[in-house]
Amino acid sequence: MKSVEIQIRNESGLHARPAAVLIRAAAGFRSRIGLDNVTTPAGPAADAKSLVSVLAAGVEKGHRVRIWADGEDEAEAIDALRELLGDGLGERPAETGAPIAVPGVPAAPGIAVGPIWRPDVDGAAGVVGVAEADGAAGVGEVAEADGAAGVGAPGAAGPEARIRSAAAVAASQLDALAARLCELDRSGEAEILEAQALMAVDPALLDEAVRLAAGGLDPAAASRASAEASARTLAGLDDELLAARAADVRDVGARVARILAGAGVAVPAVPSIAVAADLAPSLVAEVPPGLLLGVVLSGGSPTAHVAILARSLGIPVVVAAAGLLDRAPGEAAGTVIAIDGETGEVLVDPGPADLRRLVSLRTARAERDRRAAALRGRPAATRDGHRVTLLANIRSPEDAARAIAAGAEGVGLFRTEYLFMRRHSAPTEAEQMAAYRRAMEAFGPDRPVVIRLADIGGDKQIPYLGLPDEPNPFLGVRAIRLAHGSRELLLTQLRAIWRAAGLARVTPHVMAAMVSTIADARLLVELREEARAAVVAAGDPCPDRMVTGLMIEVPSAAILAPELARLADFFSIGTNDLTQYVLAADRGNPSLARLQDALHPAVLRTIASVVAGADGAGIPVAVCGELAGDPAGALVLVGLGVNELSADAASLDGIRAALAGVTAAELHELAARALAATDAETVRALAAGLTGRG
Ligand code: PEP
Ligand code: MG
Repeated sequence: MKSVEIQIRNESGLHARPAAVLIRAAAGFRSRIGLDNVTTPAGPAADAKSLVSVLAAGVEKGHRVRIWADGEDEAEAIDALRELLGDGLGERPAETGAPIAVPGVPAAPGIAVGPIWRPDVDGAAGVVGVAEADGAAGVGEVAEADGAAGVGAPGAAGPEARIRSAAAVAASQLDALAARLCELDRSGEAEILEAQALMAVDPALLDEAVRLAAGGLDPAAASRASAEASARTLAGLDDELLAARAADVRDVGARVARILAGAGVAVPAVPSIAVAADLAPSLVAEVPPGLLLGVVLSGGSPTAHVAILARSLGIPVVVAAAGLLDRAPGEAAGTVIAIDGETGEVLVDPGPADLRRLVSLRTARAERDRRAAALRGRPAATRDGHRVTLLANIRSPEDAARAIAAGAEGVGLFRTEYLFMRRHSAPTEAEQMAAYRRAMEAFGPDRPVVIRLADIGGDKQIPYLGLPDEPNPFLGVRAIRLAHGSRELLLTQLRAIWRAAGLARVTPHVMAAMVSTIADARLLVELREEARAAVVAAGDPCPDRMVTGLMIEVPSAAILAPELARLADFFSIGTNDLTQYVLAADRGNPSLARLQDALHPAVLRTIASVVAGADGAGIPVAVCGELAGDPAGALVLVGLGVNELSADAASLDGIRAALAGVTAAELHELAARALAATDAETVRALAAGLTGRG
C-alpha cells in the first residue's frame, strides 16, 4: 500500500466539482483507492472512486487528507493523485462553485448527484471519438452480445445479408432487455422494448435500408437513414405519443448501425448523470445497474418512453430543462450535477449547502416512503376517519396485479385505447372481451373496474383507423365524438364489456371521455342500450345494468354538471385535460409546462362547481387525472368534496399517508383557502403546510 498526506486548499474544500475530478482520476487505476479526512475523521475511509463517499468525508478548506492506494498500480496512482490534489483538482483558488440552476419538469422521482455524462445519442463509435478528443476518462464501453463483432465485420457477406443479420441481432438484444424488465415485474414497460425488437426486423425498414445500401450507402449509414426516414414520418404527425415512437425508431436504427460497425454500447466509467437533448429508452435499460444515477434532458416529456422506463427502474429524471446543454459543460470538465425528479430542480455544480440540503431531503423522503408503505393494508381515511376510496389507473389487464398489491380498491380508469396501440389493426370484440374479463375477474364482484371507452384522438392517434387529419386534434374528433363517424368502434367496445361482465359475473362500469354536451351523455346511454340488445339477442349471458359515468374534462361539461349529473351514475374528473382546456395550454407542449398545473385555482374552482352539481343529484365524484396521484392534490380534492381518487398504483401509498396525517376539517379549510387563491404556487404552499407536517 502507498499513501500521501496533503492539505486541501480549494476554497470550498472537496465540494462536488473537485470531488468529481478526483473520482474520475481514481477510476483510471485498478488499485483500491481510499481517502481519510485526517483533520476531522468521519467514520470509515471514503472510497475515492465514489462521489457520495468522498463528499461524505466532509473535507473543508485547510483540512488534511490522506490518500492511499492498494494494488498493482498503487505507486502510479499515488503519484498522479498527489499532483492532481496539489494543483487544486482543476480549481483556481477563487473558484467557489456557485451553482447554476436550470429547472425542468419532473418526470421520475428521486434525487441524484453525480458527474455529468454526455452520451452520444447517435451511437457508441462517436462517443469514443469525442472522449478521446476531450481526453476524458469518463466513457467506457459494454461489448455487444450475440457475436455482434462477426456481423459488423465487412467479410464475405454482402450488404443485404449484413444488414439483415445485424437487425436480427438488434432484435434479440432488445428482447433480452425486455426480459430483464419482465424479471423486475415490469412487463408493461418491457412492451416498449418488445415493440422496438419488432421495429428492428420490420420488413419496410429493412427493405429501405437494403435499397439504400444497394445505391452505394454503407450498410450502417443505410440502416440509420432508413430509420430516420420512418422517424420523420412519425414525428411529422405532430403529436406527442407518436413523436415518442419516432425516438424509438431512431434508437433502433442507431443500434443496428452500431452492430454493423462492431461498436459497443457507450456507458459511463463511473456512476453518472446522463445529460442530453433526448435519450433512447433502451439506453436506460442497457447501462449496467448502478452506473446511471439519473437523467436530465433539455427536451423530452414526462410521458416519453425514456421517462417511463427510468421510473420503473427507480432512476430519477428531469425533462424539458431549457438551456441545459448550453449551461452544463462537457463531461471532461468533471462538473457535477444534482437533480430532483420530484420537483424538477437541476443544479449544475452544486455547492456544499445545496448538497447537504438534497442529501437530507433524500433521507426524509425515504423515511416518508417507508412510513407510507407501512399503511398499505389499511383503507384510506383521514386521521378522524373520513373514508376516501383509492382506485388505480391501468392500461391493460397485466397492470391489475400491481394495482391490487398497492391496495387499490378497484380501477377508476382503464385506458382502453392502449389495447389499440402497437398493432396493425383494431382488437376484435373477442380480444377486447378477454382483456376486460381478465381485469374484472382480477378485482372480483366487489371492486369496480371502470372501463373508459377508447379515448382515441388528441394525443392518442391510431394510424390504422384511418381517421382524418385535423388541424387541432385536441379540439377535434376525440373519444365520445367518434360515435358520429365511427359508431361501430364504440358499439364493439360496449358489447365486449357487457359480454365480459356476463362471463365474469360482475356489474360492469363504463365511462366516456370528452363529454361536452347533454346530447353526448344521452348518446352514451343510447349506445350502451343498443350494445346490450345485441348481446341479449345473441343469447349470451348479460348483466341487467351497467354503471355509467361521464368524464368531466371539458369546461362546457363542468358548466353543465347539474344537468349532466341527472343522466349519469357518477362523474370522473379528468384533471389532465380539464387543466389543458381551462388554461388553454396544450398538455404535450414542453414550453407550456408551467401552465399545466392542475392546482391552479381556476381549475380548482371548476372542480368545486362540478362537485356541487354532482351533490345536487346525489352521485359520487372521482378524480382520475394526475392531480389525484399527487399527495398535495389529493388533499385539496378531498377537501373539495371528491369521494374517490384514481391514480397510478405507485402513487397510492403517498396519497394514503397524506390523508392519514390530516383531519377532514383541516382539508375543508385547505380547500377554502385554495379556492380563494389566485395562483397554483400559493395552493401548493398551502398544501405543503399539511403534507410537510406528517
Ligand atoms: C385526464 O384527462 O385527466 C385523464 C385522466 O385522461 P387522459 O389523461 O387519458 O386524457
Ligand atoms: Mg383526458
